[in-house]
Amino acid sequence: MPGTETYACPPSVCDSSELILGFVNTRPTGNGQPELLDDRTGLADWLTRAGRADAAPTATYADAIAAQELRAAFVTILRSHAGCVDDDAAVPDAETYLQRIAERYPLTPRVSAEGCTLVASQSGVPGAFGSLFAAVADLAARGGWSRVKVCKNSSCHSGFFDKTRNTSGLYCSAACGSQASMRAYRSRLRTA
Ligand SMILES: [Zn+2]
Repeated sequence: MPGTETYACPPSVCDSSELILGFVNTRPTGNGQPELLDDRTGLADWLTRAGRADAAPTATYADAIAAQELRAAFVTILRSHAGCVDDDAAVPDAETYLQRIAERYPLTPRVSAEGCTLVASQSGVPGAFGSLFAAVADLAARGGWSRVKVCKNSSCHSGFFDKTRNTSGLYCSAACGSQASMRAYRSRLRTA
């Protein structure tokens, strides 16, 4: 019967998706946003926005570079969620990188009568990076990981949460969808 399906993960944003998207959306975009993790101050700002203000004073330039690397791997996975990865090797490379680097940011199960959540075992910057992996585990457990995507519009590429019923969304907004289809239309006209 239509309208009675149940979903493991309701198509709505949550703290975990917001954390991942807030991290991914620190990168430079086609809309003119500059790199927001280019130095220790930029990383400290993200840590504060991510609720890790305690870690902000300890952020170093090397941490900012590590954050950019980590972010690039997440972006590749999020692009694959939107079906817009051109290079076949990119996704396995990103997966290998994330599996390897995750060993540096261990998680601890926090068990309660209601359930169990994973939390970063460390404090400071490593704890903040760990919380990203905890957020991914939370989203994946609830079926929402594939809903976290990067907009397919080449002049946007912002991270967004796909709220469509069947996880088919490719663009962060209707404006980006129409911009992309207009571009495709013009390119068809040129080839014709
Ligand atoms: Zn967009």
